[in-house]
Amino acid sequence: EQLANKIAAGEVVERPASVIKELVENSIDANSSEITIEVEEGGLSKIRVVDNGDGMEREDCKLAFFRHATSKIKDERDLFHINTLGFRGEALPSIAAVSHLELKTSNGKQAGTYVNIQAGEIKEFSSTDSRKGTEITVTNLFYNTPARLKHMKTVNTELGNIADIINRQAMAHPEIAFRFYHNGKRLLYTNGNDDLLQVVAQIYGYSVAKKMISLKRDTIDFNISGYMAKPEVTRASRQYISLFMNGRYIKNYPISKAIQQGYHTLLPIGRYPVIVLHVELDPTLIDVNVHPSKLEARISKEKELAALIQTAIQDGFKRIQL
Ligand code: ADP
Ligand code: MG
Repeated sequence: EQLANKIAAGEVVERPASVIKELVENSIDANSSEITIEVEEGGLSKIRVVDNGDGMEREDCKLAFFRHATSKIKDERDLFHINTLGFRGEALPSIAAVSHLELKTSNGKQAGTYVNIQAGEIKEFSSTDSRKGTEITVTNLFYNTPARLKHMKTVNTELGNIADIINRQAMAHPEIAFRFYHNGKRLLYTNGNDDLLQVVAQIYGYSVAKKMISLKRDTIDFNISGYMAKPEVTRASRQYISLFMNGRYIKNYPISKAIQQGYHTLLPIGRYPVIVLHVELDPTLIDVNVHPSKLEARISKEKELAALIQTAIQDGFKRIQL
């Protein structure tokens, strides 16, 4: 069991940023309206995620550290319409297998639960206060997997990866207030007012946000909304094309291609647009169970969606010419 967890950790938690991604996704799934992420030394010395979500019951706290003990899928059919970000039940056991992990959680009604785990072994299991929500602190990440530790880059590289993940989660969920600190310095603060443009301003700066055009398009299958930058604001990387499907960040080449074609000749060679798109669709039209990272997805009607986005962008340009 511990060996399996360590092997799974190789896939699920590659670096500090993937630990943060999994922890924050759990906070989102738990209906949090406020998530605070504190990181030290690029995540290698400390990662703490605090949320005000539903919390966990005493009995579930032990279960959560067993592989495939997800509370989010009750039967096989659920796999085909996934509404939550997590569903494999691999993250917590994987992280706990390669670190020191402390969990404090409460549903706000009963006394909270405190769990201390080192390399997957429970060292302490006791009661704590009943503040509603969950706080997970991960220290000494990868201390017992020296090969992985050796792969870690500089603090700045790890921090860059972490910031990318948190920025995306904040753009995916403008209705959640995100606070992110590195070595005590605040790097992101969103207010949770469900205003995507505000979040974009926090991340890309007000000068970019001021040059954003809003996008909207609804069909029977898709609700598209978001913001696209005027063509004068281009970037040298595809990184600034953010696509969220049902609140999940998705990398999809055909759609990213369609976005670029929407800008047509307005993009100089090697330049990419800044765009943040949300697509809501019936969960049965998207399969995210393709890879453990859940970054890729199979989308039914992908061509229709790509075409729709392309025309939405072109319409956006027509509107600003008026
Ligand atoms: P998954 O998210 O795939 O279900 P995880 O290993 O990430 O699996 O988490 C295991 C379980 O622990 C979750 O199903 C959930 O019940 C519980 N859990 C983890 N983090 C939180 C949190 N922040 N708030 C409430 N419950 C949580
Ligand atoms: Mg999870």
